[in-house]
Amino acid sequence: MKKSKQVFIFFGPPGSGKGTQSDMLSVKLGLPAVSTGELLRNEQRLKTKLGKDAARYMKQGKLAPDKIVEALMDKRLLKRDMAKGFILDGYPRNQSQLDDLLRLLKDRYDIWLIEVRVQDKEVINRLSGRRICPKCGANFHLVYNPPKKIGICNVCGSKLTTREDDKLATVRGRLSRYKDTAEPLLIYAKKHKKLMSINGEQSIAKVQKDILAKITKLID
Ligand code: AMP
Repeated sequence: MKKSKQVFIFFGPPGSGKGTQSDMLSVKLGLPAVSTGELLRNEQRLKTKLGKDAARYMKQGKLAPDKIVEALMDKRLLKRDMAKGFILDGYPRNQSQLDDLLRLLKDRYDIWLIEVRVQDKEVINRLSGRRICPKCGANFHLVYNPPKKIGICNVCGSKLTTREDDKLATVRGRLSRYKDTAEPLLIYAKKHKKLMSINGEQSIAKVQKDILAKITKLID
């Protein structure tokens, strides 16, 4: 029998658009979306100890230690709004985090993994144009989502910057690490027949359409 509560886990290389897709799916399905990258960047903006500890790894494009990320996620996943199902972006990212998540969900949810596929060349193209507001965290892209005023945040008027981990040398490292970290997720998803693999090299609207079509086909 199908479980009524669904969990959708997005994974894909940096710049694959999984954050955008996860937010859109959140609106469409009325389920909360949680991104560990966002949670960590928020801790940094708040200048917490956890944020400072994680920043050392993030700046180099390395994964933050499992202990930090798992603690952050365990706390978030226990919040009330998650009970009806939820969407994850960027978590889990390795076997330890996957095990931690499965332990917490205890078979109560139907788990789906959505892989957003984008080739390395396109990833590098996309990330070089990404800009972020250091004050409020709003995201922009020079080509795909330009701010109204060049270099200035639409939301709070601050000067936009490039994410430290979007610099080219760092992106290459993130890409190769992504391939290692995606492996346990792919193995789990294939074994349990829970994989939805989507071509991420299409317009945002078409990617979303493909995701919704897969969800309808596999779940409804
Ligand atoms: P993202 O916004 O998903 O690209 O994540 C940005 C950075 O945050 C990553 O490069 C990691 O340094 C860190 N991060 C995000 N999610 C995780 C995770 N699940 N485990 C460890 N580090 C993470």
